[in-house]
Parts: sequence; C-alpha cells; structure tokens
Amino acid sequence: MVLDFRLPSEYEDLRKTVEEFAREEVAPVIGDYYERCEFPYPIVAKMGQMGLLGLPFPEEHGGMGGDYFALCVTLEELARVDSSVAITVEAATSLGAMPIYRFGTDEQKARWLPSLTSGEMLGAFGLTEPGSGSDAGALATTARLEGDEWVINGTKAFITNSGTDITGLVTVAAVTGTLPDGRKEISSIIVPSGTPGFTVSKKYSKVGWNASDTRELSFSDCRVPAANLLGERGRGFAQFLRTLDEGRVAIAALSVGLAQGCVDESVRYAHERETFGAKIGTYQAIQFKIAEMEARVHTARLAYYEAASRMLRGEPFKKQAAIAKLVSSEAAMDNARDATQIFGGYGFMNEYPVGRFYRDAKILEIGEGTSEVQKMLIARELGLR
Ligand SMILES: Cc1cc2nc3c(=O)[nH]c(=O)nc-3n(C[C@H](O)[C@H](O)[C@H](O)COP(=O)(O)OP(=O)(O)OC[C@H]3O[C@@H](n4cnc5c(N)ncnc54)[C@H](O)[C@@H]3O)c2cc1C
Repeated sequence: MVLDFRLPSEYEDLRKTVEEFAREEVAPVIGDYYERCEFPYPIVAKMGQMGLLGLPFPEEHGGMGGDYFALCVTLEELARVDSSVAITVEAATSLGAMPIYRFGTDEQKARWLPSLTSGEMLGAFGLTEPGSGSDAGALATTARLEGDEWVINGTKAFITNSGTDITGLVTVAAVTGTLPDGRKEISSIIVPSGTPGFTVSKKYSKVGWNASDTRELSFSDCRVPAANLLGERGRGFAQFLRTLDEGRVAIAALSVGLAQGCVDESVRYAHERETFGAKIGTYQAIQFKIAEMEARVHTARLAYYEAASRMLRGEPFKKQAAIAKLVSSEAAMDNARDATQIFGGYGFMNEYPVGRFYRDAKILEIGEGTSEVQKMLIARELGLR
C-alpha cells in the first residue's frame, strides 16, 4: 500500500486557480466590504462565472462535475484570504444547493439547481431557531398541509445567505405532524424568496463574517405548494443530520484556510518588523509561536482530508467529520490569537487582515455544531451515551 498525502493534480490545479483568484481579486477589496458590512456581489458573481458555486454537482445540473473535496480545497484557499467570501460559498453549496441535489425530486432539481450551481441564485438552509440551535430537534416552526399547500408558521435565526438580492430560496425544517411514538415528525420544505408571509429581517450586527449575509426569517401563514416538500415527508431530521455531517468537513476546511492565512501573514510580518535592532522573526519567542501555528494547520488539514476521503469513499465519516471540525476550528482560533499578538498594535487595526481573522475565527467553534456538540458526537461514536 502507498500512503500518499499529495493532492492529485486536478485538485492541485483547482487550488492554484482559487489561490490566485483570492490573492488578486479578493484580498485587495474585501477589507472595505467588511468594514461597510456589505455583501460582495461582484466577487460572488465572479466566483459563479468560475464555477466555484457548482463544484460538487454533476454537469447535467449545471455543475462542474467535481466532488465535495474540490469544494473543501476551494473553501480552504478562499478562507486563507477571507472567511466571509468562503462562508458565502460554503452556505450556498453545502447548505443551499446540496439538500436539493441529494433529496429533491427531478422537478425540484430541474427548477432550482441550474441557477444555484451557476451562482446566479443563492439558496439558504433554515434549521436554527431563536430557541433551538444545538438541540435542533427542538424546533418549533410548523407546516400544516391544507389542500395542496403547506402553511408555514415560525421563526428561523442566524440564516446565512437568506436575504441577499440574489437569494432564491430557503429550505425550512418544520414540524409537520406527530409520529405514532409521540415524537415530532420533521420535514424540509422549499420556500422561494418573496413568498407572501415570508419576511426577511434586516442583517444582524455581527462580531465577524461582516461581508456575509445573516438574517432572522419569519413565516406567518406562509403558503407554498405541497410539491415544495423536499424528499419524503418526515425525513427532515435525517436530511439535516446528513447535511450537517458534510458541512462540518467544509467548515473544517474553511477553518484550516483561516489558520493558514494567519501563518502566511505572520511569517511575512516576522521578516519585516524590527524591534531592538533585529527582525522579530529572529526571536525564538516569535519563531516558536509560528512553528506551533504551522503544526496546528498541518494536523488540522490532515484531519479534514481524512474525513473527506472517507466521505467520498462512501464510508461512515461522522466521527472523523466531528474531529476535523473540532480541531480545525480550535486551530483557527488559536492561530488568529497568536497572529494578532505577533502583529502587536497593528494586529488590532483593520488595515491588516489578521484583525479580521481574529474576529472571524470565533464563529468557527460555534456554527454547524459547537465544539461541545462535536465532542458529544465523538463520544457517542465511541459508544458513550
Ligand atoms: C453567523 C452565523 C451563521 C449561521 N448560519 C446558519 C445557517 O445558515 N443555517 C442554520 O440553520 N443555522 C445557522 N447558524 C446557527 C448555528 O448553527 C447555531 O448558532 C449553533 O448551532 C449553536 O446553536 P445556538 O446558537 O442556539 O447555541 P445553543 O445551542 O443555545 O448553545 C449555547 C451553549 O451551550 C452549549 N451546549 C448546548 N447543549 C449542550 C450540551 N448538551 N452539552 C454541553 N454543552 C451544550 C453549546 O455548545 C453552547 O456553548 C448560524 C449561526 C451564526 C452565528
């Protein structure tokens, strides 16, 4: 057996293309979007033209015919420069389009996927509610079938990509009945933007990810056709568990990218900045900090590569995805703290990307399952219940 950790050439070519795009077209402008808390439409349009929003989807649906690992490699390179742009792609693909591709009917795929995979339209994933996040099964939004329509009532919190000018739909998880054993029957329903009774609030004021779109959504007697049910009735819980398992690998890749960006910036600055008559990179205190940062990125990257490879081979990957998400989000947070320290006062200024990395790192330990939830999942996989 040959153990080979090099990227196959098609992924390496993609990585280089995205690296160049991020360096040349995202890095020079994203700081201003971030400070203005503005969604970067021209960057998203360019990513659509490049096919980045269609990477893991077959060509028959307008995609690039790649796989989930191609998406992960892309997210890593984008987040190395900026996480708002990376999370916009992650949420659009992994959370927005993927559930439709995986669970949708032929009609739903034909209607939505070409626009979603081209980036002409963004989809959103509406699971979290003001009263239910980690305990997602406690959701309270309801959908009752009246004739040939679902009537939806409830509120969703923190939904990414849900209120942009190009958002086309949100997939809403809702209670659609009670199972014979008394548990909730949960289903997913596609709600197109602009449906009467569906209101999108103004953007949250956030600590980080300031150039990404996050909103609260409310549904008040919102009616959509019965045919908007995603997949089978009552399969909503299983669907979102699957979506989140995959999403964790993507968030791990995004975290590795942020952690790598911290190393890149720190090495560069350590060569430039002088104190006491010498470059700070000559001090062992700085060298050790950067060496630890590099070690964290390296180990976190191996963790997400392994989770992704199991996923692509069709093997169980729940534990590996949770481990990858846990260690890489912690690596991102630790590296962002260390990079900011290496930059001293300049690390606290918006002029340098490390301040942005610092603000963007924390959410990685929270979104798509907190670190505590990842530990619960890992323990459960070890038979501890
Ligand atoms: C910017 C942003 C974007 C997001 N985008 C989306 C999106 O697109 N779609 C979507 O559906 N959701 C989205 N979310 C929601 C996100 O997934 C949740 O915030 C996250 O899962 C945590 O849920 P919560 O905020 O309700 O925290 P809670 O579940 O209330 O947790 C609070 C604290 O308690 C801990 N905790 C909870 N239960 C346990 C336990 N049993 N044991 C130990 N500790 C526990 C948690 O780890 C956490 O530290 C987004 C959130 C943010 C901030």
